[in-house]
Amino acid sequence: MTDHVAEEVTLARMPSGTEVTTTVHTYDGRAGGPTVYVQAAQHGREVNGTEVCRRLHAELVDRPLAGRVVVVPVADPLTFDRVSYTTPEALDSVHPNMNRVWPGDAAGTLHERMAARLWEYVEAADAIVDLHTGSPDMLTHAVFREGDAESRALAEAFGTDLLLSEEAGEDADAEWADRDFDGKLRVAATRAGIPAVTPELAHNKQVVEEAVAAGVDGTLNVLRHCDVLDADPVDTGDATLARNHLGTVAAAESGLFVPDTDLELGERVDAGERVGTLYDPATYETLQTVETDRVGVLYSLTKEATVTAGKSLVKVALLRE
Ligand SMILES: [Zn+2]
Repeated sequence: MTDHVAEEVTLARMPSGTEVTTTVHTYDGRAGGPTVYVQAAQHGREVNGTEVCRRLHAELVDRPLAGRVVVVPVADPLTFDRVSYTTPEALDSVHPNMNRVWPGDAAGTLHERMAARLWEYVEAADAIVDLHTGSPDMLTHAVFREGDAESRALAEAFGTDLLLSEEAGEDADAEWADRDFDGKLRVAATRAGIPAVTPELAHNKQVVEEAVAAGVDGTLNVLRHCDVLDADPVDTGDATLARNHLGTVAAAESGLFVPDTDLELGERVDAGERVGTLYDPATYETLQTVETDRVGVLYSLTKEATVTAGKSLVKVALLRE
């Protein structure tokens, strides 16, 4: 039916000489077809994607496939072991975030070398699913590159209720370049002509059934969409399409944030809707009445009460259609 191989691959070498390795699973169908690359846990605390990969294994190993599926459940073992988003400075002082260095550099910093090794699998693929997990305060969604029809089709097949398009390159604002977003795997792959989607499941650091189920269903639907699995994609209904990386309301001061809204994630909001208050916990002084700053879809509202100035409190995605 399907040939499965699990291969230990060396990604880089630590200062001590210890090798950083990870396991790459390849599922080869007896029938020809496209290759789909699925990866999880570049940001090691985003463990729901890793659990998605384990369940996907059970789905793929005994099923006839047309083509090949390559799965990397722990793309960054260094952040996985630290349950972190980035590595400490001692490991990569230049690029602590692995998802800013793609397509990597075999002679570069630690993360650049790790990415370059995995890029060998990426560039041989016809479609990319880079599984991520947002905070518990974020609505599950899928991100694709604005204007890329094939990537949008992957996101639609993945089937979350909210799809976010992200402008890239010259179309994007200055912040996009300032934050090195062109080094995201999804952006680098799309630029190399490989359609790619970044699902953002909810609840990092926890394995949450709902998030895992969304990831498994979505990835299987992408495999159906790509004809690796011989079935029509499940119709997931109409999604809301909005724009990524706009509409963040940040804390103006450090203090205690108390949400006072009955708004739920995914709701449409107007500009100027009150969502909470930021207090000085010692004097009770109100520091900021927090309001939405635009019309759109509320897709993130922080539940962490103690906030520092500049922290994102609310995210509203601008509706596109
Ligand atoms: Zn992530």
